[in-house]
Amino acid sequence: SQHTPPEQMKDKSQEPKVRPANGHVVIENVYKSFGDVRVLEGVSLDIKPGEVAAILGPSGSGKSTLLRTVNHLENIDAGRITIDGKMVGYEQRGDKLYELHEKEILRRRTNVGMVFQQFNLFPHLRVLDNVMEAQVSALKRSTAEAKAKARELLKRVGLEDKELAFPRQLSGGQQQRVAIARTLALDPAVVLFDEPTSALDPELVGEVLDVIRDLASQGVTMLVVTHEMGFARDVADTVIFMSDGLVVEQGPPREVFSAPKHGRTRAFLGSVL
Ligand code: ADP
Ligand code: MG
Repeated sequence: SQHTPPEQMKDKSQEPKVRPANGHVVIENVYKSFGDVRVLEGVSLDIKPGEVAAILGPSGSGKSTLLRTVNHLENIDAGRITIDGKMVGYEQRGDKLYELHEKEILRRRTNVGMVFQQFNLFPHLRVLDNVMEAQVSALKRSTAEAKAKARELLKRVGLEDKELAFPRQLSGGQQQRVAIARTLALDPAVVLFDEPTSALDPELVGEVLDVIRDLASQGVTMLVVTHEMGFARDVADTVIFMSDGLVVEQGPPREVFSAPKHGRTRAFLGSVL
C-alpha cells in the first residue's frame, strides 16, 4: 500500500543526496543457526556510506536475524561483518576471533541505531527523557546538551509539542517517530529498521515513512526491512531480496521490481504488489 501523495515523493527523490564519509557496512559470508535451524546461510552484502537498502523477503527468511547481527544483538557462527573497517562484535588476535567485551560491544553499538516494529520506548519516561536517556548514559553528554539535541530531533520528526507526554499518551505513529528521534540522537552512522511500520494502523504508516524518507536524504546509511513496496521502490538505492537465509537478488529498485531475475523474487512480488 502507498500512503504518500506521489508529488511529495518525487520532490524528495530529486533532492541531491548527502554522501557521508562513514557508515560503510560490509557483510561477508555470514552464517547463523539457532540449534538445528539454519537461518543465515552465507550472506554477503556491501552497503556504501549513505546508501538506503530495502530488505524484502518472506517471513522466516532471516531478515530480522541479519539486521540483529549488524549491531551484534546476535553473534554469528562464521563470516565477518565490518562497519567502516571495524569488526562488529569481534576482534582478531593472531588468527583467532574473540568476542568483544560487553562494554566495548555497547560502545560500538551507539554507532548503529535500531528501530523496532514495537517502538520499545521506556514507558515510564516522558518523550523528552526517552530521547535524552542514552545520550547521557551511553555518550556521557551533559543534560543541557542532550536536551538541546532531543528538542532539535523532536522538532525534526514533528513532535516538538509532545516532549512532556508519556508514550502511552501517543499514537503508534507518534511513538515510532519518538523512537526514530531517540535513535538519531546518538548520531549513528548506520540505522537499522526492522519493519518499522508493521505494527501501525494503516492511517499512521505514512507519517512514519515520511520521517524515514527525510532521513534517507540526510546521508545516514539505512538498512530497512519492510513490506512497503512503494516506499522501497521510491526511497531505496538498492533492493535486497532474501529467501531461506540467502540474498537471492540485489539491485536498483527499478530493476528488481520491473525485471526480477529470480523466480522466488517474482513469486514474492507477485504476492505483495
Ligand atoms: P524474518 O525476519 O525474515 O521473518 P527471522 O530472522 O526472524 O526471519 O527468522 C528466521 C528463522 O530463524 C525463523 O525460522 C525463526 O523461527 C528462527 N529464529 C529467529 N530467532 C530465533 C531464536 N532466537 N531462536 C530460535 N530460532 C530463531
Ligand atoms: Mg522479521
